[in-house]
Amino acid sequence: MKDIQISIREDLKQKPDQDHLEFGQHFTDHMFLFDYNSEQGWHDPRIVPYGPIVLEPAAMVLHYGQAVFEGMKAFNTNNGNVLLFRPQKNMERLNQSNRRLEIPEIDEEFILHAIQTLINVDKEWIPSGKGTSLYIRPFIIATEPCLGVRAAHNYQLLVILSPVGAYYSEGLEPVKINVESSYSRAVRGGLGTAKAAGNYAASIKAQTEAKEAGYSQVLWLDALERKYVEEVGSMNIFFKINGTVITPELNGSILAGVTRDSIIELLTNWGITVEERRISMDEIYQAHKDHTLEEVFGTGTAAVISPVGELFWDDRQIIINDGCIGELSQQLYDTITGIQTGMVPDTLQWTVQ
Ligand code: PMP
Repeated sequence: MKDIQISIREDLKQKPDQDHLEFGQHFTDHMFLFDYNSEQGWHDPRIVPYGPIVLEPAAMVLHYGQAVFEGMKAFNTNNGNVLLFRPQKNMERLNQSNRRLEIPEIDEEFILHAIQTLINVDKEWIPSGKGTSLYIRPFIIATEPCLGVRAAHNYQLLVILSPVGAYYSEGLEPVKINVESSYSRAVRGGLGTAKAAGNYAASIKAQTEAKEAGYSQVLWLDALERKYVEEVGSMNIFFKINGTVITPELNGSILAGVTRDSIIELLTNWGITVEERRISMDEIYQAHKDHTLEEVFGTGTAAVISPVGELFWDDRQIIINDGCIGELSQQLYDTITGIQTGMVPDTLQWTVQ
């Protein structure tokens, strides 16, 4: 494995108040950098003080958005260990995103090693309050200065770390969601299956409008027919109808979430039927009318489980489980957060020290 050069900063930063950590607002003392060019491939891995980077104004990422990223978390356990949750999955997905955007692939094992080394350098930054964690953001940008539209020849991979507070300070909170009828997040054949920066740019306007109308997020439908459910905000989505759990199949425009995969595996192990298939808003509305729509929840690294208490679709209000937290949603949340923090036995070997 390549050696990672480490330069420790002399003036360590002041750490934020652990009780008031907002998502993505604070960054640790150091960051990891790794460069790519056609001659040397990925080279010069180094950990340096966190700070601004130098980019030419013509850097291709600034013009054509050749940028991919990942999001994962490290947790402090009660017995002083640091655990990562299924990080190999994030490394695999980073390479899937790379392939889709014509970015050179990375050595997954080496980048995971680099992330672990960086976390170890900044381990004092991992918060230890209930529900807190260290959010890890690896990303790759095209740095070559050129205004031609093509794959760049030069890239930089960076990893930054951010201590984050509990997503829910007082237990799970069901949210109100607007079913989006004008905007689309992704189309089949587009970038939806990649964790590409541009997907998030495409989503912001709908999110702003939903917030203004009093909803926490939007439910994305398929871009072609606006009939089938795809994702909720930047989370995957699950419906429990008459005892069966249904989640949209990975159809070429949905991001394959690590949490989604974990939930399917847990539910299957618990003997609950999970269907990965197309599910339309008509079917959901019918289930609501039949009183068989039992639970709806989003899944993702940030919140793990985000129960949906209300869907607003086509002037129709769908209240789920009286707006309360579903039993299965709570059980999944407790199990996954328990495994992540070493409180529930990790029988599936999902955590990595
Ligand atoms: N969909 C989108 C669009 C996302 O950005 C995320 C967050 N990475 C997810 C789903 C959930 O993925 P994960 O469970 O891996 O966080």
